[in-house]
Amino acid sequence: MADKKYRVLLLFGYPGCGKGTQGNVLAGMPNLYHLAMGDIFRGLDKESDIGMEFMSYATKGQLVPDELTVRVWRQHVEERIAARDINPNYHILMLDGIPRTPSQVEHLSSFIDVLKIIHLKMDDRNRLVQRLKGRAAKSNRPDDAKEEVILNRIKVYENETLPVLECYDPQLIANINADQPPLAVLHDICKALVTVVPAKI
Ligand code: ADP
Repeated sequence: MADKKYRVLLLFGYPGCGKGTQGNVLAGMPNLYHLAMGDIFRGLDKESDIGMEFMSYATKGQLVPDELTVRVWRQHVEERIAARDINPNYHILMLDGIPRTPSQVEHLSSFIDVLKIIHLKMDDRNRLVQRLKGRAAKSNRPDDAKEEVILNRIKVYENETLPVLECYDPQLIANINADQPPLAVLHDICKALVTVVPAKI
């Protein structure tokens, strides 16, 4: 895969906007492979140096440094290809949670070809905070536990991640109202993707 770029879709939006829920459903579709950066980090050995480094950032609601993030992402993709879970000629990778900064866009630009950006828009901060708190109660997430950390993640998203959208051609971006029932959000995503994901499998 050295000379060919991975075909990717970006799932983009505030923490808690439903990227993971939608990504997991879409992952069941032929041709699509869901890759959530947070899951990749959480899958690292917690005792390893990188695992501990990840935890030190995540527990504060901060982003892991760009170069490390892209390195971990690339290694994970290469491992999945070697294990034959991902076939880059067949799969379009649905990236969730990466790139999260303009610098990550740059680091990834020679490896990925972005076909579409699904921007899940949700402007009601209170609802986001409630959703993240609900998720913390259900799963073991170090970054969802405290309100202060949640508010920091929202701030980091606005300051560091939203500028990612400006790095891409606006025609690639599908703005979708994420403040609807999950099935309605899924419907809108499918409408945006139907012309992008190939009909032949
Ligand atoms: P959410 O989507 O709810 O914000 P994630 O599960 O995507 O959370 O990420 C959890 C944590 O992993 C983040 O708070 C951050 O510390 C780290 N992380 C995930 N993706 C990235 C990324 N692209 N760049 C830097 N750090 C990341």
